[in-house]
Amino acid sequence: MEFISVKKLKFYTKEIFRFFSITLVAFGFIIAIIFMKYKPVYAVSISGEEVGYVENKESFQEVVDNDVKGYSAKNVDTVTLESDPEYELKLVNKSEETNEDSVLVAVQKEMKITYKYYDILIDDQVIDSVDTEEEANQILEECKEKDESINIQIAEKTTENAGEINTNNLEVASTNIMAKVDEDIAIKEEEEKKANSLADVNGVQIAVLPVTGRISSRYASVSRLRVSTHTGLDIAATKGTPIYVVADGTVISAGWSGSYGYLVKVDHGNNVETWYAHTSKMYVKAGDVVSAGDMIAAVGSSGNSTGPHLHFEIRINGEHVNPQNYIYK
Ligand SMILES: [Zn+2]
Repeated sequence: MEFISVKKLKFYTKEIFRFFSITLVAFGFIIAIIFMKYKPVYAVSISGEEVGYVENKESFQEVVDNDVKGYSAKNVDTVTLESDPEYELKLVNKSEETNEDSVLVAVQKEMKITYKYYDILIDDQVIDSVDTEEEANQILEECKEKDESINIQIAEKTTENAGEINTNNLEVASTNIMAKVDEDIAIKEEEEKKANSLADVNGVQIAVLPVTGRISSRYASVSRLRVSTHTGLDIAATKGTPIYVVADGTVISAGWSGSYGYLVKVDHGNNVETWYAHTSKMYVKAGDVVSAGDMIAAVGSSGNSTGPHLHFEIRINGEHVNPQNYIYK
């Protein structure tokens, strides 16, 4: 066995220490040279493809989170990235420029945006579209205020194709929807009018009553005042009460007619006529075209009459019929 002397051991220790010192200094030099020539940057890759360098990974990612993923604009609902940027620390030549802007453009190309808008439907038909739910609700309220029964609905729509969005601003959309509501109300009223029309006389729609009053003598009743049976229906009302034509038609005559007094005759087509007798005033003349509900005369007591009333007749093919077959039933 050979023993290493203390002297030798000291020598080796010193040599090793010297060696490491030199190595460390040399390494330091190399590092210094590297940092003089090179700089650390983050290489950014998207789907494995390097798109550029950024200086600061954290601040760049912050921009991605806020400006790209957090992008908000009209109709934008969600923003996702097809693939997230990946960072790798690299040393590059100091002359190399980082290019945050073009890297950001590359990231933006990965954006998948979904858009949102709101359809407004009436009777399941899309009438118009608006950008926000708030606007849609405002229009809905407006419609409900006008007509509670209107069948209006809001449908939230999403799309990835911005070109599909065809919205209007609140004012325009509201005008369009209201026009449709008015149209529907008019149609409904017309239908109601038809349903409420009083009767059909040989194809002629009787839409209104000729006068408001009390029935004082029925058709075919016998009276000592008349030589024949009653040819119409008497409705008592105060003098001057308006008399309305019961259906659309043309005035045949308006003038004195013996026991009828001042008599208005109206032709409604289909061989149907209506007669209004004993009037105090007549507001029409022969040939006038009248619409159901037009005021044509006023109640009076002219001719063979004992008090103010309307004598109302319906004639089909020239023959008087019982008005109560149709109205004042
Ligand atoms: Zn009469």
